[in-house]
Amino acid sequence: MSDVVSLCYHGVSPSWPSTLAVTQQQLYAQVAWFVRRGYRPTTVRDAVRGAPEGRVLVITFDDALRSVHGLALPVLERLGAVATVYAPSRYVASGEPMAWPEVAAHLATVHAGELEPMLPRELQAVARRGWEVGSHTCTHPWLPRLDDATLASELSASKAELEALLELPCDTLAYPFGAHDDRVATATAVAGYEAAVTLPTRVGRWPEAPGERERMTLPRIGIYRADEWRRFRLKVARPLRALRAGPAWDLVTALRGSR
Ligand SMILES: [Zn+2]
Repeated sequence: MSDVVSLCYHGVSPSWPSTLAVTQQQLYAQVAWFVRRGYRPTTVRDAVRGAPEGRVLVITFDDALRSVHGLALPVLERLGAVATVYAPSRYVASGEPMAWPEVAAHLATVHAGELEPMLPRELQAVARRGWEVGSHTCTHPWLPRLDDATLASELSASKAELEALLELPCDTLAYPFGAHDDRVATATAVAGYEAAVTLPTRVGRWPEAPGERERMTLPRIGIYRADEWRRFRLKVARPLRALRAGPAWDLVTALRGSR
């Protein structure tokens, strides 16, 4: 019987007022809370491959922002924790700041530097510390809106580009914005990924022995700047402990299955 909790972060910053950034203090307190309770941090790849036993914490960072290397890595090292970072390959290759419409407004502010991607050597550095580097596609599009050929290219080209750039296998993917549907999940498996992570509104249970479809839709809890201590505790504790441990969880599962 395992208990896997998976978290999705983006950046870390003392001053960037974006919802995407937590402070180092938030990150430390949140991860330390799990570590104190016996949760063992691991990567998405290892959580999927290893049939995890006991309490497992999966920490992920979407977008591969530079602050993940500069500010998150030292915090996690202090706690003996590893993570998975999901990189949009074209941004890493060009070094250009993230510029998709949902974040582009930040480029006109003093915080524009927060949108710079990690350098290839920084991604290699976290990989040497036991982190996993996964794909966040090439250009961070809404995958369900793409035609089949563009979808396949975003999935397979980003995998190939990251593998060539980092000389490391790229085994898992995070859907940009968490957005996916059956066609996207199938294409992700066809592109050769072992697993993919989402960002659902209602976070379901991490599957014990996931089949292919479950591996392509692994749930994560999004953690944001507004998640001060009490809110964080409610987010990670209430849905994952009370709801899924009780009879209500069966009802939730049944309702989901009937959709
Ligand atoms: Zn993203």
